[in-house]
Amino acid sequence: MTSQRQEDFFNVCTNCKISCCQNAKPPITSARKKIIEKYLKEQEIPIKNPFTKTMYTFPREDAGGYCVFYEKQTRKCKIHPVKPETCVAGPITFDINKQTQKIEWYLKWKKICPLAGVLHKNPEILKKHLDSAKKEILKLVHGLEPEALRAILKIEEPETFKIDQNPIESPILNKLLRL
Ligand code: SF4
Repeated sequence: MTSQRQEDFFNVCTNCKISCCQNAKPPITSARKKIIEKYLKEQEIPIKNPFTKTMYTFPREDAGGYCVFYEKQTRKCKIHPVKPETCVAGPITFDINKQTQKIEWYLKWKKICPLAGVLHKNPEILKKHLDSAKKEILKLVHGLEPEALRAILKIEEPETFKIDQNPIESPILNKLLRL
């Protein structure tokens, strides 16, 4: 459970002044929800009703829009070993192109994520992280309900650029085409 899904890249994240955990709304599958709830119980982290749902399920936010799992004093994630797939994959994001039937991979601009700048300058580290991000995101898109996946794909992520693409597996494409 506490396996290293993501290393803290050169302390870039803990020293960063941009709060990517504010208004983040990372999608939560039912499998991830159970894993997080088990972790909260085991670690005795007292958070009541940690999830909320609109078109999809995500961690509840405080009045300032911060994720309920964000610890302001340390700037760390309270559930780091089991955090949502998109949080592990960041600053890599994704989109699904129904026309080309490809899943497309994007990297955030460094002005909104210093870690993205570090990755962009280090192709070997970027490749390693991209491989791991792809696994996490594919796990996510397989686990999401069709309605949730469609809602997530409508969210614009303008300050990113495309770095790779892969053919999409038909079960995922079928979810998007299902009415
Ligand atoms: S789950 Fe953790 S990493 Fe993800 S948005 Fe919340 S505090 Fe940030």
